[in-house]
Amino acid sequence: MDRILISSCLLGQKVRYNGTSKLDHHSVLQVWQQEGRLVPLCPELAAGFQVPRPAAEIAQGKSGDDVLLGKAKIIEETGRDVTELYQEAARQALILAQRENCQYAILTDGSPSCGVRFIYDGNFAGNRHSGRGITTALLEKNGIRVLSEAEIEILRQTLSEE
Ligand code: SF4
Repeated sequence: MDRILISSCLLGQKVRYNGTSKLDHHSVLQVWQQEGRLVPLCPELAAGFQVPRPAAEIAQGKSGDDVLLGKAKIIEETGRDVTELYQEAARQALILAQRENCQYAILTDGSPSCGVRFIYDGNFAGNRHSGRGITTALLEKNGIRVLSEAEIEILRQTLSEE
């Protein structure tokens, strides 16, 4: 049975930087949970961050791939450089995904860790651009297919055809 790493905020856990969740109501999530497919994780908490915590973005319009290559930093709204902690968050996610034999991940779009289709540009002005977070980049480089919460239906169809 294929297993799926999932951002814990999508399951209703209030682990986001501002103390909220991003509970997703797609009905298949309950089915997958009952089947034991889901492996919930908040990579940022796994790396030692607290709730609440300052918002953070990947600087200068770059992406998680650039951070992995050492070509970009992740900076909190306060100006603190948290790149190393975000690298640790991505490592924790990969370790868990591999240990739990996850072939897929569903992660929360927009996050500098979990973003899949878009992230923010580092100006803390709400400007999105296409690109992925550092956890998404590391998982995909290691063969785990990552989808955003907007793509749950695609994964449901993929799994039902297997
Ligand atoms: Fe959700 Fe990922 Fe942010 Fe944790 S790091 S709150 S799982 S988007």
